[in-house]
This record gives sequence, structure tokens and C-alpha cells, in this order.
Amino acid sequence: MIKFTFLYILLFSLISCQNDGTPPTSVVDSPPISGDTPPEVDIPRDGEYLPLGLSDKVIVRSGIEHAPMDLISQELTMTFNPDNQTVKGHSLIKFKLRNNGRPYFEVKATPKNVILDSKSVVASSISDPDGQNQSYWSLGQELPAGEIHEVKFDYELASGRVSFVNDGVRFLTDMTDLNGKFFEYWGPVGFEEDAFSLNLELKVINSSSKHTLYTNGVGSLVGSQTWKIVFPEYYSKSSFYVHLTNQTLPGKKFVYKGLTKEIPVEVYGLTTTLVNSAVSQLPKLLAELEGDYGPYPHAKFLAYMNDRSGGMEYVAATITSLASIDHELLHSWFARSVIPADGRSGWIDEAIASWRDYGYTRAKSTLSRTSTNLADYSPFRKSTPSNSYVDGRGLMSELDLEFKDQGGLKPVLKAFFTKYKNLVVTNEEFWHFLEEHTKLDLEPFQEQYVLGSAEEAPENPNDPSIKEPSKHPTPLSKEEVLRLR
Ligand SMILES: [Zn+2]
Repeated sequence: MIKFTFLYILLFSLISCQNDGTPPTSVVDSPPISGDTPPEVDIPRDGEYLPLGLSDKVIVRSGIEHAPMDLISQELTMTFNPDNQTVKGHSLIKFKLRNNGRPYFEVKATPKNVILDSKSVVASSISDPDGQNQSYWSLGQELPAGEIHEVKFDYELASGRVSFVNDGVRFLTDMTDLNGKFFEYWGPVGFEEDAFSLNLELKVINSSSKHTLYTNGVGSLVGSQTWKIVFPEYYSKSSFYVHLTNQTLPGKKFVYKGLTKEIPVEVYGLTTTLVNSAVSQLPKLLAELEGDYGPYPHAKFLAYMNDRSGGMEYVAATITSLASIDHELLHSWFARSVIPADGRSGWIDEAIASWRDYGYTRAKSTLSRTSTNLADYSPFRKSTPSNSYVDGRGLMSELDLEFKDQGGLKPVLKAFFTKYKNLVVTNEEFWHFLEEHTKLDLEPFQEQYVLGSAEEAPENPNDPSIKEPSKHPTPLSKEEVLRLR
């Protein structure tokens, strides 16, 4: 839900559990993680927190207004059947609307048996108006804004979204922000700006295979081949990390003593060497990033080490190569704590990460580079523009020069993180914050480098027009996904 006046309780405890209910063997001794961790209290905002620029996702078709659902909570059950290789979902969503209209949401499957407030309704497919190739499901009844409603429905995943191997299941939420692929491939969601609480039940039927669950929620075994995962309510469609597999993968756990709390870290991967290398690097990276931007904002960190370049950041988790682990860990502060509202604000965290990747350089002059576009896109765009790295880090190094009398950009970003921790942010808010914090007029920077060109950014992160490669992981290839599952 887009209401952030929450005091959320972080009940992360048993993050990975085997189907016999015991945690996997840990090579590094670590104290048991208590399920009674004291609640972490966030400073509540006054009234309802609504990021700027988010009222523009109403779709009008033949005079009918379709309004995006503001999800409050979802109870989702996914049933995996290796016998006939099917995955069936049953969703119960509590939601409201911010505009009058027919409620719409997203899932890459066809909703069936749709019941809205105990009445059967039809769900129709609608496309976005800007040709972004997004498609949504709209419910056949207009509702007024503000009220709380409930919808439930069934769906079945297309084959290939999950693997069935040796009588068992291999399910991995392999997302990518570069192509805008998020949880909608496996379950119903709203937009990236729409945080909601998700309770996910995973059931494997007709299988005696031994499964392990890795997740960035609180996972527990609740029955034979049945797991329940509770995700914190600041999570949205780009956050959920779920890996249920009958592969046996090496892993290690340790506890990092952070600035304000102990951070349980779990690393697993395709090889023991990768796991060991990541385990040796993470403490100094956590120290560096906590030192620069403040305490790690999540309850734990989970890394799945890939031996190729593909990967993705999630809240408190990543799939990554060793070469990108520092870039991905920074995204635990910027991207998956300060969360971009949509593809128009996705450039911010990549610009920050890329500025760090290339040594936090300070520009020699300002406003002399070519005009670029990082944010002037359709509200329905999900993907991050690929020029976010080179053009974004160029902008960050100019802002570092512009803010030199205030100690440079880093302390400003620390203040930005402190204010927007575990909240959604838009491009507009970023600039509003920078100007308010530094008391400088930054309009020329925004005009020239963020809204400066009407041209679409190249989509390919390996495009030759990008002068230096980015350390952001490449989108996972189909082959990589099959291997990682
Ligand atoms: Zn990145």
C-alpha cells in the first residue's frame, strides 16, 4: 500500500529452511537468529505519504477510466505439481483506489473465477496508452476512490516460468530492472511504487523431493512440502526474492556487527569458491557503505553467487557475480531501500552506484557535457534507461563539484538516504530534496542532464555508445536462469 505511516516490525528469522524444518548446515558458526527481534521503529510521516508525480497512471479506454489498484495486502498461494508440471495461483487482494474507476493490476497470466467483494466479475486485458508493451487486467466494475475492497481469483503460470526436475520444483524470481521484469511474472502486483504486505504460501504436491527455500522474507516450513513467507510491508513488485529448489547448493552464514544492529548474512552459490570469496569481501563492503551512508536498512542480507555476469538486486538480497557484489550491495541502500517509483526514477540509484564503481570522481567543470535524458519517459515505463550509468555518474561527479563547499555529494546522499529509507522516491522528489538540502538552484542540471533530450536512451546495456561498461549485472540469460534455479 502507498501508505507509509507504518511502524513495521521486522520479524526476519529463519530465512532458509529445508523441508525437514531445520536450517541448512552452516559452515560458519553463527548464533541462532531470534524470531523475537525487537521491532525496528521507523519515523512515521504525517498523513499519507504520496510521492510526487504518481497520479498519472489512470488509463482511459472508450471513455472508461481504469484506475491502478493501491494494494494493501495479498494472501497468495502457489501450488506446484511436478506430476503434470503445473503451477496454480490463488490470490486474495485487499486494495483501494486513489481515483474513481475500474480497478486494474498486473499479472502475466489470465485471472479466472474472479470474485470482487463476493460478486463474480470479468477481468479484461488492457494495454498501457504509451506503447510500453505493458498489459494489465481491469475488473469489470467501477469503484469509488478511498474505499477498501477485496478481490480473489485463480490463475495458472505459463510453462517455463518454473522448472520441474527430478520429481521436484525449481522456482526462482529471476527479475531484471534493465528490461523491467518483476514479480508480475509469477504473481499479481501493482506498480513498483506500490508497496504492500505479501504473505506467500508455496505448496509442492505429488513430490518426495527434498527442497530448500531461500528468501528475503521470513520463511518457515508450515507443513509437508509447504512453506509460508511473510514479507515486510515496504516491499513492492521489484523486492520479492524467492528461490525454492531441489538443487543442493553450498552456502555459509555469518553475522556482521553493523553500526546499530547485528546483520545476519547468508551467502550461497553455484560453487564453494564463489561463496568463500563473497564471504571474505562482504564485511569490508558493509563497513564502507555503513560508514558512508548510515546503518544497513534491512534485517538481513542474502546473496546468491553466480559464476557468470548475470544478476539482479532485491531488497536485502541479490543474485550476482563476484565482480558486481559491491555494486549490488550498494543497491541495498539506493534502489532497494530508497526505491525508485518507476522507470522515470530508476536512473538515480544506478547513477549513485556507478559513481561509486568508478571511484567517486569529482568533475572539473559543470554543465559542459551533452544534454541527456534520464527521466522524461512514460509513467508506464518499468525499465531503467541504460545511459543511467555513464550519464548518471557524470551528473553525480558534477554535483560533487557543485556541493564541494558542503563536503561534496556523499554527505548529501547520506541525508537523502536517511530521509527516504524504505520509501519510494521519484525523480522530482530527488531534485526537490537536493535543492532544499543544499539551498542551491539545481534547475540547470536537471534540465540539461535529466530532462535534456527527447530521445529514447539505448536499451542495450552493452551498447557501444556506452564508453565504459557498467558494473550492474547483465539481465540473466535463459540458460543462466535454468542453471541457477
Ligand atoms: Zn545497478
